[in-house]
Amino acid sequence: MFRSITLALDMKGCPNRCKHCWMGWSPNGDMPEEDLAVAAADFAPFAESLEIHDWSREPDYADRYRERWELCRELSGPRPHQSHFELASIWRLVRDESYAPWLAELGVEAVQLTLFGGEETTDWYTGRKGAYQEILQAIDILLNNGIAPCIQVFVSKNNLPELPQVETLMEELDLERRCREIGREFDCFVHQGSCDGENRRFYDLWVTPEDLEKIPDRLAAGTLKHFRAETLLDVFGKTEAGLCRELLGDESTFSYVSDDPVFFIDHNYDVYPNITTPSPIWRLGNWKMDGAEAVLDAYRNSRSHAQQTRLTVPVGHLAEAHGDPESRRLFGRDDYIELLLHRYCTAAGASK
Ligand code: SF4
Repeated sequence: MFRSITLALDMKGCPNRCKHCWMGWSPNGDMPEEDLAVAAADFAPFAESLEIHDWSREPDYADRYRERWELCRELSGPRPHQSHFELASIWRLVRDESYAPWLAELGVEAVQLTLFGGEETTDWYTGRKGAYQEILQAIDILLNNGIAPCIQVFVSKNNLPELPQVETLMEELDLERRCREIGREFDCFVHQGSCDGENRRFYDLWVTPEDLEKIPDRLAAGTLKHFRAETLLDVFGKTEAGLCRELLGDESTFSYVSDDPVFFIDHNYDVYPNITTPSPIWRLGNWKMDGAEAVLDAYRNSRSHAQQTRLTVPVGHLAEAHGDPESRRLFGRDDYIELLLHRYCTAAGASK
């Protein structure tokens, strides 16, 4: 019996194809709403408390987002369903005028919007022409509904030169004052994201320590505040060379099994633990074909290829086989181990 199980069903997918997407670009599906109740009934016997969500990529992308939110609340428990995340659908914000008031009613105080630089760059990274203009519209809509926009910027060497444009935009839109006027604090931050999913393609362009000096002042200050960090290196992590030195010779292994697991269920009903990108190396089975018990058993016994590898192969071996001891790219330690694990598993023959 788990203390809690959280299920995130990728019922509708996502309108974007962001170049940095850690979830990966799986096709959009259209899972029937009834799957929520069936999933709750199937998984509930294995946990003291269940939490269920109708999305794992774009929240509220389905037209019946309100009904699904209510249904998920009803099906979750006995612990209370989580409040709405700071993630919202920018796509819906500019198409559905009742959406922002609904978010405000739920008590959402801030919503994250992702910029990558100027208009062309942001459209390119988001994978959708018009995305930048929609973000600008969404900022006004949020503020008019008492919700603060929070600006996050994913950075690689590619878009680093455009960060001043983001800062200029924040100033032109007077976001600090406008947030203050609605009684909220303006939050903005920069980070590199984890090197998984689509973002793994940016490995060659990954930020190195000297790049951090190019982050403009307001974004740098916002980043330190957001992550409660003393220095930007605390946020961006250590160089790959430094991490390799730490990990080489380390004989430890690790179990990802938790008492409170979170699972992604894709539109084909394949189930993955929420550790990194849902991909074949993390697949636990198929909920509809194998059943909830078998899937949970695979998780508990670390039977996905990636879990099994991390449980049995010392982390030093992963670094020896796939680390670059000369690289100055910056990573958080856990993110870097997951990158090594992905390389190890895929090199060993599993598909990506
Ligand atoms: S990063 Fe988010 S919005 Fe972008 S494609 Fe991935 S899930 Fe969709």
